[in-house]
Amino acid sequence: MQYRVQNLTVHKFGGASVKDADAVRNVESILQNCLFSPAVVVVSAMGKTTNKLEQVFSTLVSVGFDKALEELKEIALEHQMVIDELSIDLDLSDLFVTALKKSSQLDDLDAAYDELVASGEDASTKILFAYLSSVNWDVEWRDVRGIIETDTRHNSARVDESRLDEMGRSLRLELSESSRKILVTQGFIGKSPSGRTTTLGREGSDYSAALLACAVGAEEVVIWKDVPGMLNADPRIFEGTQTVEELDYSEAIELSYYGASVIHPRTVKPLQNLGIPLILRSFVDLNAKQTRVSSFPGQIPLLPMYIYRPNVTRLSIGPSDQSFVGEDHLTSVFGALDAAGIHVRMMQNSAVKFDIIFDSNKDKELKLIEKLGKDVWTKATRGLELLTVRYGSEELVEKLTAKRGVLMEQKSPSTVRRLLA
Ligand code: ASP
Ligand code: MG
Repeated sequence: MQYRVQNLTVHKFGGASVKDADAVRNVESILQNCLFSPAVVVVSAMGKTTNKLEQVFSTLVSVGFDKALEELKEIALEHQMVIDELSIDLDLSDLFVTALKKSSQLDDLDAAYDELVASGEDASTKILFAYLSSVNWDVEWRDVRGIIETDTRHNSARVDESRLDEMGRSLRLELSESSRKILVTQGFIGKSPSGRTTTLGREGSDYSAALLACAVGAEEVVIWKDVPGMLNADPRIFEGTQTVEELDYSEAIELSYYGASVIHPRTVKPLQNLGIPLILRSFVDLNAKQTRVSSFPGQIPLLPMYIYRPNVTRLSIGPSDQSFVGEDHLTSVFGALDAAGIHVRMMQNSAVKFDIIFDSNKDKELKLIEKLGKDVWTKATRGLELLTVRYGSEELVEKLTAKRGVLMEQKSPSTVRRLLA
């Protein structure tokens, strides 16, 4: 068992929770209410900044530097408005332009992407840090690239979780000696062994929070969301949703595999390994119900869980020579999936083809097809929907999918999954 720092917590604030000046003030008031001891505060890029930076990157690649710079200035301006509204002394224009320059000098496209896109987290953390300092918190900004080391797989970098203890050692000591210090740091990004910026894949900052919690020996991770914890269904689609208040780690992993977007799929495992509880709470309402994920046997209350994934792609893969899908083929398919950074939501095989279902993403799909090589044929069907119902009745599933074309179905005693046209 790894050494723990008493009362140390890791708090993660996603893009929506820092989207503008009021949101930043709200984060400060949450910290006022909830922090009584040292904490690591992990922050994502503000609002939709990552999407916008991805757009700038695609302009850089397809049009050129000047046009990309023009678009980037918009993003810098939006940040400047938040800075002005918070009355803090900070100028981020250089930060963005420097990131674009560095990005434009890199030949490897994925490394260039990481260099530019990471500026969103660099900016948001600097703003939160400056604001907390301005209202007299004992706070420090720490570059997460000095803590979390990844491999060189830019754009979807991996972390050797067995080394987290070593990565967090000096920080752990530092935090155990302070009474109420906050460290503000970036989610989503890391550093490769050669010192380059890497990113962990979109929405990766929940995972960053988990990695940091393991690295520093935290007692708890709190992920702040715009919903009251994990609900039994997406409130935008289903009525009368309820919070699941207690949930086992393995159950949470299962649900995120099916597509429950409230937790990033890689987040839970490292926490489970060290027995660090994960709390999902609402940044909108501190009195709202919350979810605690720990080694709790099962789920309370035991509600039917509906997980609806719109816009998934089914890719059918088969050997070009019309032979069987053998174990050797499957090995290369899994290798290609991993290399393309695709998270499989469902799969099924027959003698002559293998079907995989994943969140639609044209770039990743093309990368996968390229990695699969010429010995296989592929056929993609995009824009499908995947519904998973856990602990629900068959009648309910029938009702939900009435009049829909069911392209694929998988059943187990607890779970029914349907791929819908
Ligand atoms: N800012 C990154 C993204 O939007 C990481 C995250 O939010 O978790 O994907
Ligand atoms: Mg985000």
